[in-house]
Parts: sequence; C-alpha cells; structure tokens
Amino acid sequence: MPPLITREEALELGKIEDHAEIEKLVERAWRVRLERFGDSTDLCSLVNAKSGGCAEDCGFCAQSRYASADTPMHPMMEPEQILEHAKAAEAAGAHRFCMVTQGQGLSKRDFEKILEGARLVAEHTNLKRCVSIGHISPERARKLKEAGVQRVHHNVETARSYYPEVSTTVRYEGRLRTIQAVKEAGLETCVGGILNLGESPEQRVEMAFELAELNPTSVPINLLNPRPGTKFGDRPLMDPWEAVKWIAIFRLILPDALFRLCGGRNENLGLGEFQKLAVKAGLNGVMMGNFLTTLGSDPAWDRKLFTDLGLNVWRQPDNGSNPRPDNRSGWLEGETPRTPIDDLIDSQSEAPLWNPARQLRRRKKRYVPPRPDGAPNRGLRVVQVEPERERAATA
Ligand code: SF4
Repeated sequence: MPPLITREEALELGKIEDHAEIEKLVERAWRVRLERFGDSTDLCSLVNAKSGGCAEDCGFCAQSRYASADTPMHPMMEPEQILEHAKAAEAAGAHRFCMVTQGQGLSKRDFEKILEGARLVAEHTNLKRCVSIGHISPERARKLKEAGVQRVHHNVETARSYYPEVSTTVRYEGRLRTIQAVKEAGLETCVGGILNLGESPEQRVEMAFELAELNPTSVPINLLNPRPGTKFGDRPLMDPWEAVKWIAIFRLILPDALFRLCGGRNENLGLGEFQKLAVKAGLNGVMMGNFLTTLGSDPAWDRKLFTDLGLNVWRQPDNGSNPRPDNRSGWLEGETPRTPIDDLIDSQSEAPLWNPARQLRRRKKRYVPPRPDGAPNRGLRVVQVEPERERAATA
C-alpha cells in the first residue's frame, strides 16, 4: 500500500509542536495500525553473537574501531550459546529472535555458526528466526533460507542525502544490494534506521519515503542513544513528544510495515507514558530484552505497553506477525504444542537473556585510529537507563 500522506503533508506534520495536535496525530496513526493489524503484535529480541572491534566507521556505534569508547568484545558465540539466549527470549514473550554480528562480512567459519544457530533455534523453540550480519551475497542469502532464517535485518540507517555523515566505509549502495539479494532469495526484509543523528526534518521524510520504496516487511526505528566516545556521542536526546510525532508520521508513510521501536527508547522516552504513546503512534512491536551494547527493560513491562492498549501479545492467527510454531510437526493441523511461551517470565533475572553488561569483556583500547572523515569522537556522559535500578529509586 502506498504512503497515506504526501511528502509535503509529512513535512507539515513534522512542524507540529502543540502537544494536543501531536495527540491527534497519534490517534490517526493508531487507527491506521488497528485497521491493518488488529490487535496483533510482533515482538522481537536479539543476541549480539559477535561484538566489538568492527572495521567500519559508523558514527553512532561503540563497536567501531574508530570509536574511543571502551569496546565490548567477544568473538562469535557457539551455536549452543545462541540457542540459550533464544530460549530466554521466547520465555520473555518474544515472537522472533535476531542473531546479530558486528561488521559487514562474516568469515566462512562464523557464517557456519550462524547457520547452525538458526537451525538449533528452529528445532528447539517456536521463535521466528532473523539475522543481522552485514552485507550478504545472493548465495549466502539462499543458505540462510535453507537453514530456516525467515527475515534479514539490514538498515539504511538514515536518509541517503545524510548518509555520508553517518558512515564513510559502508556504502549506501552496498546496503541496497544486500537488501535486494535478500529479497531475491525469498526472505523477508527488515530495514530501518536511527532518528536524531543530526538529520533535518526533510531528511527524516526523505528516509521514510526511501523505506516506502524499498517496501520492507519490517521497519525498526531506533532513537539515538548517544554513546560516549563516538562521533555522535554529545548529541542531546530527542524530545519525547518529537519522537512520538515522528513515529506517527512514519506509520502514515509506511502503513503496511511491521513497525518496531528498538534502541534508545528507554533513554529518549523514559520509562513512563511516552513509550505507551509511542506504541499508540503505530508500533507493532518493540525489541525486548537488551540491545547490542545497552540495556533494555523487563519483559513484563514491555508486554504491558501493548496489553494496556488492548493489544494481544500471545500467539494469534497468521497475519504476518504470527508467532505460531512453524517448525514443529502437526501445527498446520491446528495442534499448538505447549512451549516456554506459555509460561512467560516477568523479569530479566529469570532467564539468561542476552545482557551486554554481564556478558561482555570490556577491553581498554590502546590505539584508536582517526576517523576516516576526520570527525572527532565526542561525549563523556554515559546515558544508560537501568530499568530495575531506576524503578527501585522512584518507588
Ligand atoms: S553499525 Fe555495524 S558495521 Fe557499523 S561500526 Fe557498528 S558494528 Fe560496524
């Protein structure tokens, strides 16, 4: 379905500052979301299966070798470790599980581990399988499909016209090639980016319309969580009303996409009503558990964002966000096996979700090469919300 608003209308909506007007816009996006998807949700969770020491220079990323932040580092996980985190994600109530690695190309050995991880997750859980492993050739895309991967994540990150500010070593055109290879292999695509990298409102609209042209199944939106020691490390957080407004605008431009909010949502929106308002602005899901190098929320809290609005976080009939098992015999005949998702956990402490704070070895960098674009690394203040501690402090 084409965008429901024109570029000009999107730009006009982007100028709204009055909160009551933003609430009206949210109501409009909410109706669009309900019409397309009813009460269904599409919740995902991830594992950072290989972290740190990345050769690329993405300005938002602490994993880049050009970032002066201490780098969380670990080599490729074994497939069994990936499975352990997947089982925890399923217990948290996630419908899908994404295996993520740093960088733009995996070695043959590491790629095999991702394939084996995907097979194990398919065999032992009811989670849908996604990967985010950088550039992918058509041949690798086919192998991923054979291993049971259903969706590949590969962001455009920002508008094409702003992209040179974000990365000089990863080409925008290369991103488009990977997205094409993934589509040609018959896999679903998950393509989005990050808001608040310094792009203008025009560039936000440009990005949303570029995404509409790519027509991905899923669109993840991140709100920049400025990591200290990165190129964008001193950027101010986004005003929460502004963030909610742009989520609603993206929903109107991308009416059919499975739309999810990922990194930076706790830092930019806080742990109160703004996240619920963001869901109302058109989200199908959020990233549950933790993010690649930062912490997320407790599963019960994330599920409540949706259930408080009358949305269903459980298994539902197939509607594109269907978390029903597709990997166990018998389900097509209607038999739904009992799975860990029947006994959801409430807090992160109940299952070994991916947790960058606990699991990463942090290594001081001895040498940080200058960024290829000459920009300095910025920001000394660590912006990281730890939901449990924050809630205890305000209780
Ligand atoms: S975003 Fe990915 S490719 Fe870019 S620096 Fe970070 S890990 Fe590397």
